[in-house]
Amino acid sequence: MRRRDLLVAAGVAVPGALAARSLPGAAKVQQPARPARPVAVAMVGLGSYARFVLERTRGLSQIEVAGLVSGNAERVMATASEYGIAADAVYGYDDFDRLAENDRIDAVHICLPVGLHAQFAERALKAGKHVLCEKPLADSSEAARRLAQLAAERGLVLMPAYRAWFSGHVQEIRRRIAEATHGALVAIDAHKGFRMKLPAGNWRFDPALAGGGCLYDIGIYSVQLCRWIGGGMPQRVSAVMAHDASQPWPEAIEDHVAFTFEFANGAIATGSASWRHRLQNRLQVATRDAWLCLDPATPAIGERLTIGLEQPDRIEELLLPVRDQLPRMYQHFADCVAGRAAPELSAEDAIDDLRVMEAIYESARQRRSVSVV
Ligand code: NDP
Repeated sequence: MRRRDLLVAAGVAVPGALAARSLPGAAKVQQPARPARPVAVAMVGLGSYARFVLERTRGLSQIEVAGLVSGNAERVMATASEYGIAADAVYGYDDFDRLAENDRIDAVHICLPVGLHAQFAERALKAGKHVLCEKPLADSSEAARRLAQLAAERGLVLMPAYRAWFSGHVQEIRRRIAEATHGALVAIDAHKGFRMKLPAGNWRFDPALAGGGCLYDIGIYSVQLCRWIGGGMPQRVSAVMAHDASQPWPEAIEDHVAFTFEFANGAIATGSASWRHRLQNRLQVATRDAWLCLDPATPAIGERLTIGLEQPDRIEELLLPVRDQLPRMYQHFADCVAGRAAPELSAEDAIDDLRVMEAIYESARQRRSVSVV
């Protein structure tokens, strides 16, 4: 079998190949008729990331933020007035379910603590709204699977808000690996870390609200990159984790993790995430004839791709057009809601990420490698 066939067989294909996979037994998604107006989204939770997103999505043609959900009355009214959002499209968490009565809102973007994702995604789907949900989709693969089933039954879009997927550089690396441009894939190396400075009491240190520690918070980016490039689900996972007792978070919240994945196609991935110190936000992919380095790898904007070629021996910097991932992600979500496109990222991809992260925890607990598939 040619290398390209091997990669396609392993699920590493052209961009979009992960799209539109249906869950076993799930009802066929009936996309609603295309709205004549932009898709209207309610932002759920007005924390730091939601405010960053609000700013980045101003003025998009196919989507508008037309509703807000928050527990902070003062902040939500100030935000509504700043973004021209009608007062009757402002909700609290208690009256969230009244979204069902608002035909102007098509969808929600959930920007809440991880432990609340599943609860509010479920309520939104039951209110008849499409869901774009921050990473990870839920605090367990089981909870994410229930959401996927509900979305399928209701014929609604449930998409993980994986902005890094919309990086032109990430897609370029995927394309070159799928086409074996530089020979067979050998190894992937992905790291992300920073010194955690949030104060004690933040939800990221509460296991019930966070679901996990640095792995769920930032390790998920490296897990995704390894899976997107390496061939879908790894066969085996091994990992070690650490906890710094001098920090204000409990022992259940890991602050450093290192992992390896073994893929069926022979590729090996290594990755890490840390709240202890600044690792480079970096991806390096090794093939038979080249290395491809994305550094920084997963900023919202500003990735940089260099390629080291063996023959002739030189280093190239690939100057792709600068793309802002968030508008692209939103436009794609709008296309899916409007029935113009099938989701490139399905809920099943988010479930698989959670299964891999659960395997990482399991391996670290058992101090041995574990099987995923
Ligand atoms: P913040 O703590 O800044 O914001 C979370 C918001 O959730 C709060 O401001 C609050 O909004 C609301 N909330 C509701 N209930 C609670 C509760 N019990 N405890 C704390 N907050 C609560 O977090 P972030 O904005 O950094 O993260 C939010 C989500 O975005 C997470 O899922 C995270 O993983 C994701 N994220 C994604 C990034 C990306 O690049 N894709 C980057 C950073 C975060 P209010 O006061 O309005 O009720």
